[in-house]
Amino acid sequence: MAANQETRSPAAPASSIENSCCLTSPIGALDWSRLQQRIECPVCRLGSRVLSKVRTINPNAPEQLELRRCVACKHVFINPVPDQDYLIELYQQASEYVVHRGYNGSSASGDSAAKWIFPDFPDTDLTQTRFLEIGAGSGDLLSWVSQRASLAIGVEPGPWRGGPGAVVADLSEIPGCQRFDAIALLDVLEHVADPLLLLRRLTCYADAGCTISCTVPNSQSLAARLLRTRWSMVRPIGHLNYFSSDSLDQAFRNSGWAPIRTAAIRANLDAKCDLGGVLPAILRGRFKWAASQCIFRYVLGRDQWFIQAVRADN
Ligand SMILES: [Zn+2]
Repeated sequence: MAANQETRSPAAPASSIENSCCLTSPIGALDWSRLQQRIECPVCRLGSRVLSKVRTINPNAPEQLELRRCVACKHVFINPVPDQDYLIELYQQASEYVVHRGYNGSSASGDSAAKWIFPDFPDTDLTQTRFLEIGAGSGDLLSWVSQRASLAIGVEPGPWRGGPGAVVADLSEIPGCQRFDAIALLDVLEHVADPLLLLRRLTCYADAGCTISCTVPNSQSLAARLLRTRWSMVRPIGHLNYFSSDSLDQAFRNSGWAPIRTAAIRANLDAKCDLGGVLPAILRGRFKWAASQCIFRYVLGRDQWFIQAVRADN
């Protein structure tokens, strides 16, 4: 364990607790009794150091939490962490602590996501495929798959859940005997208190040869390194986990999955970067703005990981 490892308890700041008691926002204040101190890395269980103090995404809330980095696997995470039941309640309420006001769900487009999830796309035969999507959002991908697969079920606790496929609010609503051939968690593991617990739980729903496909924030990306707490992914308590290449690999291997493919990607699984949006600015002579957009989209844009893994005991 590193000598400079920080072990002091970063209890919820006293001032934050006092302030939170006075909040009268309709979304309510954070219930600190349902947040737990997390000093140990949620992936490798070793120690961590404080990187910074960060405010939550609730613009009306004064609370500050810690952004910590594991001294071993470099996983970055938020401390203290809400318990999972509390998180689900916040998502069910569309609380501004976890989503921005007016959030109406999001989902990668079917084509964009299918290119990554299903081999041999677009010629993949999904007629025998049983598909499970955790965090189905507005249901775009689930809808795409449900039109082609033998079974497509989504799990989405938020009130924005939709789509023509079957969508349930919690994984526990799916019968334990149901097995799947492909599982997707796009932009999900950063939202949960214990990513490994969820990944282990999902092995119970995985049939032989089942693949799991995930996207998560890349804590080693240029955007993360340069922008630090201003990186758009730093969104507590909506986002709680930021993966390094090491923590991503360990998270899957230690929860019953064998990684087969990892890539740094852009948000929403866009393989290419469409610069059509900056062309009008260039034509109008707004070169500085266009250049800054190009830098963000081309250079800093790959701030997500895509990882695909198979059940390890196959
Ligand atoms: Zn670690």
